[in-house]
Amino acid sequence: MNAPAETPLSEATVRFLAQPKKMLIGAEWRDALSGRTLESRNPATGDVIATFPAAAAADVDLAVQAARAAFSGKEWGKARPIDRERWLLRLADRVEANAQELAEIETLDNGKPLMFARRVDVQQAVDFLRYVAGWCTKIEGSTLTPSVPALRKNEYFAYTLREPVGVVGAIIPWNFPLLIAVWKIAPALATGCTIVLKPAEETSLAALRLAELVLEAGIPAGVVNVVTGLGHEAGAALAAHRGIDKVTFTGSTEVGKRIGKAAMDNMTRVSLELGGKSPVIMFDDVDVKSAAAGAANAIFFNSGQVCAAGSRLYVHKRVFDQVLEGVVAVANKMRVGPGLDPGSQIGPLVSAKQLQRVTGYIRKGVEEGGSLLAGSAESADKGYFIKPTVVTGLGEQATLIQEEIFGPVLVATPFDDIDEIAAAANATPYGLAASIWSNDLSRVHRLIPRIQAGTVWVNCHGVLDNAMPFGGYKQSGIGREMGRSMIDLFTETKSVMMQL
Ligand code: ADP
Repeated sequence: MNAPAETPLSEATVRFLAQPKKMLIGAEWRDALSGRTLESRNPATGDVIATFPAAAAADVDLAVQAARAAFSGKEWGKARPIDRERWLLRLADRVEANAQELAEIETLDNGKPLMFARRVDVQQAVDFLRYVAGWCTKIEGSTLTPSVPALRKNEYFAYTLREPVGVVGAIIPWNFPLLIAVWKIAPALATGCTIVLKPAEETSLAALRLAELVLEAGIPAGVVNVVTGLGHEAGAALAAHRGIDKVTFTGSTEVGKRIGKAAMDNMTRVSLELGGKSPVIMFDDVDVKSAAAGAANAIFFNSGQVCAAGSRLYVHKRVFDQVLEGVVAVANKMRVGPGLDPGSQIGPLVSAKQLQRVTGYIRKGVEEGGSLLAGSAESADKGYFIKPTVVTGLGEQATLIQEEIFGPVLVATPFDDIDEIAAAANATPYGLAASIWSNDLSRVHRLIPRIQAGTVWVNCHGVLDNAMPFGGYKQSGIGREMGRSMIDLFTETKSVMMQL
């Protein structure tokens, strides 16, 4: 095999990688108090690309204090909505101006193809910042007309205020490191909160670069703090900290439950965007070729490391074989390679741990009687690469149908009628998303209300919009991010009743 042709890194990225990595706490760039560090590895090679601080509870405490001081401080507290809007727009401009560097950092740290890092992660982060900036001036309560019983003589005036929830603790995963950081920071700032962000230990670099851009944008010190470290140390300390008013988490259901329990002990507000096992449902009127491409894209994008990935494919039995053949053909043709190689369509998995987990699932699928139609449990000698994998022949209770894998592994199953598919679609603990593929409107509309999922796509999958609420039913989480609903997550409602 020839060495892949890799896009050379920009000077800015080389400079960023060479500089020592510190956490942003208040106005200061700090090492961990313990002096401990963690390593970041390039998933395409396994090589260490940077070291960064490993925060513990004492560092988290400093960050929470800085966020509290900024929240109570004059500059942020007295800022008008339009000032916050300008800060967010300036941050969007800084992210856009540094798009190539941020995309390269994302590819080096997470493994994803550079083109996706640039066009999806960074572009969506810019768009989201601008979308949320517009909300700053549009947060409002309501006026009410009370009907207080037994006090007919009195007159009342009643209204509601929306107030920032306070100091936010955000804990995020490694699949879209920059974008999810922005999904947390932007609504916190729009509503007047301050934030302590803990990125995932696998991919902390983009958040540290973003923190530099936050300061360049003129956002007051302490409004955004970034602490890096391990989940069970820095993450757990943040979730359990009495000084935060809200915790927002995106990640696995298992960790989400732990964070939710820790938060509840302090009555900290909590929103959780968790795992999924999203069904892709194709009826017999689909165009086989485009349906196969759609199903492949639904699972293989970002190497399947997507909470809403279409990991269960259900196809009507009349067209099952043809669609499956198409999906297998796409899977076999996809180019797996380093994210910096412009020819790569699928990058490596994020870490050796994730590679082990995903290959373990593939082996389990075979043990439980599944047939591998594409891919395998084999991995490359160097880097965390794995081929797009398609499995069939598994029953409803099979591990690969029930559990979230978070890798490029699709399980395909035929179905016969709408009752059967409605039941199968809902037969996992998750309820994040689903897609229905058909042009038979009445069939589609009959099925949508029967699907327990926060998002249902029709004739597409994984299409998010800044204005569209996103979140899960069942074990896929609590709360809806994006759109108007994100404002609810970062504000308290105060009811005011006044006797005139
Ligand atoms: P994965 O298992 O795929 O790494 P996680 O859900 O464990 O995904 O990780 C998402 C985020 O949660 C990361 O930032 C990680 O550091 C953090 N995390 C992991 N364990 C805990 C914990 N016990 N408390 C708080 N945060 C945690």
